[in-house]
Amino acid sequence: MNEFKHFINGAYVASASGKTFENRCPVDNSLIGLVHEASREEVDQAVKAAKAALKGPWGKMTQAARTAMLNRVADRINERFDEFLAAECRDTGKPYSIASHIDIPRGAANFTAFSETLANHPTEAFKLDTPDGLGALNVGQRTPKGVIAVISPWNLPLLLMTFKVGPALACGNTVVVKPSEETPATTTLLGEVMNECGVPPGVFNVVHGFGPNSAGEFLTTHPLVNAITFTGETRTGEAIMKAASVGLRNISMELGGKNPAIVFADCDLEKAVEGTMRSAFVNCGQVCLGTERVYIERPVYDAFLKRMKEQVAKLKLGRPEDPAANFGPLVSLEHRNKVKYYYDLAVEEGATVEIGGGIPDMGEALNGGAWIEPTIWTGLSDDARVIREEIFGPCCHIRPFDTEEEAIQLANDTEYGLAAAIWTENSSRAIRVAEQIEAGLVWVNSWFLRDLRTAFGGAKQSGIGREGGVHGLEFYTELKNICIKL
Ligand code: NAD
Repeated sequence: MNEFKHFINGAYVASASGKTFENRCPVDNSLIGLVHEASREEVDQAVKAAKAALKGPWGKMTQAARTAMLNRVADRINERFDEFLAAECRDTGKPYSIASHIDIPRGAANFTAFSETLANHPTEAFKLDTPDGLGALNVGQRTPKGVIAVISPWNLPLLLMTFKVGPALACGNTVVVKPSEETPATTTLLGEVMNECGVPPGVFNVVHGFGPNSAGEFLTTHPLVNAITFTGETRTGEAIMKAASVGLRNISMELGGKNPAIVFADCDLEKAVEGTMRSAFVNCGQVCLGTERVYIERPVYDAFLKRMKEQVAKLKLGRPEDPAANFGPLVSLEHRNKVKYYYDLAVEEGATVEIGGGIPDMGEALNGGAWIEPTIWTGLSDDARVIREEIFGPCCHIRPFDTEEEAIQLANDTEYGLAAAIWTENSSRAIRVAEQIEAGLVWVNSWFLRDLRTAFGGAKQSGIGREGGVHGLEFYTELKNICIKL
């Protein structure tokens, strides 16, 4: 039986209470193992280990030595690629073909990209005139913020967790990670890699458990945590902001979305269909940047809808290790209940189900898993709940529009503002529309194309702050001004 223990001060630790919960595989609901649930005391040990490590060898290490160490972490993840891949796919049910291209390689790359940014990004210097004519010199210096709490979700477990741990460590902080209760495996495995690469004890810690009245709450309310970086649902973000307000701790929030795609008649239709298929259905629709609202300029509406339905019909549901499969289950039966609720609600709200809409028959061996059909709807009104609320499943609603102004208005008619995709071969239009979209990330003729040097984050209720590139430095460091009177 697998056991997922906490990783505290460089060692795996069981819950003193013996309290565990089950980790089940969404492919067939088989038991993967037991996860130890951290008590307030164990979270306290992890935070104190992280605090102490700031003063140990880690705190004294040169930037170059730290960078070399993090590069080794990335190399070691790649050396143990197959183990990370198997663990991630067992926890999430996603196809190997997807996780081997996205989750694991990008998860490793997060340990190299940010050290380079930090090393190559200057701070500021200003000469100030003073009445005695001698002046003063102001020099900006970045110092680590301290202990960073990392609260991560289940949809891209390794990738989204290291997107925070990579820059946090590159900047010289220490971390306590609380991975999602659904996907504890790769975060736990990373502890072994940290030890193999000589990362000092206490620099990287992991505590397992749930949110309220469990490890998540114990961590975010811990007074020795200096800052909290969170990816997950908007409502959870609100709870964490409240916790962070005590002691005035800094926060970075990457939250939910209800992202639009706008397809103009002058697009390359094949590319638009291919891109929208990925943005709506990859990872079983469980990508925060994914498209759930698709707006199509009327002249190409019928052709686009027909092509999308043909492509959805070709999606191959199957086990992660099946090389032909490109579509896995949802992450859990609980999440499937939520998505299925929205599938039923869509019908109640008057949708035409163009394809999908139900739970597929996967055969006896897999029917216990969290499978759901990829689904396209049409005909919903703009104020339907299915149009306004994040579903986080493999589904989208397709609706025609007639003018550019209407498309922009529809795209922005949401409380969220994470991402959008625009499909057009007219570059003036692309820029004009992109500028008016209220979102942190806008793709033109692509989707999920990420340059780690660029800003990542959401507008409106999709987030607070930006991570990625130099923007992460603002969160993960304290910019101190040293004023030297000459
Ligand atoms: P979630 O908010 O339910 O959980 C995320 C994490 O927060 C988990 O580790 C959970 O245990 C923890 N948590 C829950 N309540 C807590 C509390 N009160 N205090 C402290 N921790 C708490 O989100 P999820 O279901 O795991 O992930 C899906 C959501 O994440 C979707 O809304 C999706 O859009 C969003 N997401 C956003 C981004 C982004 O970059 N903006 C990326 C991926 C996912």
